[in-house]
Amino acid sequence: MKSEGAAAAAPPAGMERFSSPGKGRGLRALRHFRVGDLVFACPAYTYVLTDNERGNHCDYCFTRKEGLSKCGRCKQAFYCNVDCQKSDWPMHKLECSAMCAFGQNWNPSETVRLTARIIAKQKTTQERTQSERLLSVKEFESHMDKLDNEKKELIQNDIAALHHFFSKHLSYPDNAALEILFAQVNCNGFTIEDEELSHLGSAIFPDVALMNHSCCPNVIVTYKGTLAEVRAVQEIKAGDEIFTSYIDLLYPTEDRNDRLKDSYFFSCECKECTTKAKDAAKMEIRKMNEPPKPEAIRDMVKYARNIIEEFRRAKHYKNILCFCFIRLWCNADICVCTC
Ligand SMILES: [Zn+2]
Ligand SMILES: [Zn+2]
Ligand SMILES: [Zn+2]
Repeated sequence: MKSEGAAAAAPPAGMERFSSPGKGRGLRALRHFRVGDLVFACPAYTYVLTDNERGNHCDYCFTRKEGLSKCGRCKQAFYCNVDCQKSDWPMHKLECSAMCAFGQNWNPSETVRLTARIIAKQKTTQERTQSERLLSVKEFESHMDKLDNEKKELIQNDIAALHHFFSKHLSYPDNAALEILFAQVNCNGFTIEDEELSHLGSAIFPDVALMNHSCCPNVIVTYKGTLAEVRAVQEIKAGDEIFTSYIDLLYPTEDRNDRLKDSYFFSCECKECTTKAKDAAKMEIRKMNEPPKPEAIRDMVKYARNIIEEFRRAKHYKNILCFCFIRLWCNADICVCTC
C-alpha cells in the first residue's frame, strides 16, 4: 500500500479544529463560504462496496458502468481495469479466498467487512493519512460507557463474525480493543449513496466525522466515487461552526432526538429542536410516507387494472395495424417483412 507522507497532515485551508462549547471538538470556518462552495473534500480512509452493488460498480473506485471485469479467483469482485484491480488487492485479498471457501455461507455484515479493512489499513499505514488531517481514526469517540447490554451483545456478535470470516488474513487486537473499534465504527461510519440516494457502501471519513450535528446544518456531504465532498448549504461566516446532519431531517423533533440518542448518545439543542417550528410540516410529510389505507389500495388496484386493460387493447390494435401495413407493403411490392 502506498505510503502517505508527512505533507498529508497539513490541515485543509479555511477551517480549523476547535473546542465547541458543550459539544466537545468540532470544526470551525476561518473564512467566508457562500452557498454551494466546496468547504473541503476527504478521501475515504477505507471503504467497502455493498454486496448488492457487486457487478454494477467497480469495487475499487465505485464507478458505475457496464462490462466491468471480474476477479478471476472469486468471480465476485468487479473492476474498471487492471489498475483498479491491483489497487484494490490489499483490501480485496481479505475476502477473495474466504468468499471462495465459504461459498453460500459467506455473509459478514457490512460493518464487519468495513472493520476488517480498518484493521488491515492500520497494520500497513502508521502515518496520518490524507483523510485524517483534522481528526485521526484513533481519536474517534466510542461512547463505550453509554452502551447498553443489547448494544454490547451486537458488538460481540460482530467480533465473532470478524473472527469467523476474516481469521486467515488478519491478526486482531484483543477483545477489549475490538469492542472499542466496533463502537467507534458505529458512531463514526458513513454510508455512501449515489445521486438517487441508493446505498452503495460504507466508509470511514475521519475529517468529516469531526463535524458536529445540527438539524439546520450549514453543509451537506455528497460523494464522488469514494471521495466525500462537504458543501455549504447556508452562508458560513469566518468564525462560524460548521455543522452537518447525522440523521434524516424529514422527521419531527421527538423522532429526530430518539434517533440521535440511540445512535449517537446526545440530544440536539439546535434552533429547530428548541422552536420545533417545522414539526407540523414534517408530520404531514411523514403521513405521506405511511402505508396507504385499504380504500386507497383498492382504488390504486382498480386504476392499475384499467391501465393494464388499456395497454392490452393498445397492443391488440398495434398488432392489427402492423398486420395491415405488412399487407399493404406486400401488395405494393415493397415488402419489408419476412413473409
Ligand atoms: Zn474502477
Ligand atoms: Zn477475488
Ligand atoms: Zn436539532
